[in-house]
Amino acid sequence: MASIEERARIVALDKRFIWHPYTAMEDYQTIDPFVIERAEGSRLFDMDGKAYLDGNASWWVSTLGHCHPRLVAALKNQADILCHTALAGITHRPAAQLAEALVAAAPKGLEHVFYSDDGSTAVEVAMKLALQYWAQNGRTARKSFVALEGAFHGETLGVTSLGGIGVFHEIFEGGALRCWHIPSPAVDYDQSLEQLETRLRDSGDEIAGVILEPLIQGAAGMRIYPPEFLSAARVLCDRYETFLIFDEVFTGYGRTGKMWAADHAGVSPDILCSAKGFSGGMLPMAVTLVNERVYSGFFGERERAFYYGHSFCGNPLGCAIALEVLRVFEEESILENLQPKAKAIARAFSTLGELEGVLASRSLGMVGALELDGDSGYLAQGGWQVFEEARQRGAYLRPMGNLVYVTPPLNIPSDDLKDLLRIVEESVQAVVKEK
Ligand SMILES: *Cc1c(COP(=O)(O)O)cnc(C)c1O
Repeated sequence: MASIEERARIVALDKRFIWHPYTAMEDYQTIDPFVIERAEGSRLFDMDGKAYLDGNASWWVSTLGHCHPRLVAALKNQADILCHTALAGITHRPAAQLAEALVAAAPKGLEHVFYSDDGSTAVEVAMKLALQYWAQNGRTARKSFVALEGAFHGETLGVTSLGGIGVFHEIFEGGALRCWHIPSPAVDYDQSLEQLETRLRDSGDEIAGVILEPLIQGAAGMRIYPPEFLSAARVLCDRYETFLIFDEVFTGYGRTGKMWAADHAGVSPDILCSAKGFSGGMLPMAVTLVNERVYSGFFGERERAFYYGHSFCGNPLGCAIALEVLRVFEEESILENLQPKAKAIARAFSTLGELEGVLASRSLGMVGALELDGDSGYLAQGGWQVFEEARQRGAYLRPMGNLVYVTPPLNIPSDDLKDLLRIVEESVQAVVKEK
């Protein structure tokens, strides 16, 4: 265990030099951060030895928990052999084997994989593929997208154009691509579908693709909508011959209770983006899968090729880990074991929804969320009181405004999950009682 002085030195260096993500740095100066030294399974350990249950799988990423021995072994083994090579004109065992395993695990028809670095780049690839496809296949006016109000598809400028959360994207609007936002089906299902149809009918010639976070809009506040919307969107995209793109960066790899959110509807998109759980929270690594139609649209003269690729595209370490993630899913029956845990989350959040001071609650698969009474939106502060209460009780529960949620590792042991849900309940109780 580290000394108090050493901890203080780390915090001092941090405050002097580091600009933190999604953080008001002026406020941060007075905040005492977690100083995490190591992590194991569903727990983070602070430098002072205190353990915290990781209530959000470290930003929805560590879906197989921390330092899973098989993932660590896969990383070490691969590191001894080959850490990096370009993927241009070169291939290697981990990239090829992962591609085969991914296609086998993916919704039907998605048979080609393009590797990139993180969720944002996986969506960026999807956008560029769609734009270029139409530019060179006779529909040159198709330069815009349709997305949901409250959409979140990542951080780069391209994907920020798709965003529907004001504080994250409004400042950048002048530099963005055109995107039409339709109401979220989680807020008004009928309006959403109606406006999707109207938009495609009126502006179909200008639309390169419809992009959805299928079933759950995570960053908008864990908004959940029914799988029928995905089937309806598939029908409409077929009718108006445009691409349906699923951003499964958050929902993929079991988060919703099935491998893909798309599986709840039995629907295949034309393009599917995956990251986060894709590499089990070990390394930045992502993939965009496409069907034959998209893929074949880049054949022909050389200028029709997709001239795109990040430095770390298909990185062998990332591929080796992502392949091991799929094997762990299979051999440790990760999906099969989710049901009782999903039920426990549903039960706990349904009870929490009854509390005075709690506006609403909802759950799906390994996601449970509640909204505290008070301001809404990302900058609301109520959730942070719950965060403090939970921290004292040994859990890391980063909120989004007044939205308190859990997205624990999928393989969290039942006893740990019970503890986590108890801490959520006690922390919420403590905060709503004060009011
Ligand atoms: C997190 C997220 C992204 C962005 O992924 P990064 O790895 O942070 O770039 C994109 N889409 C969805 C739905 C996400 O949840």
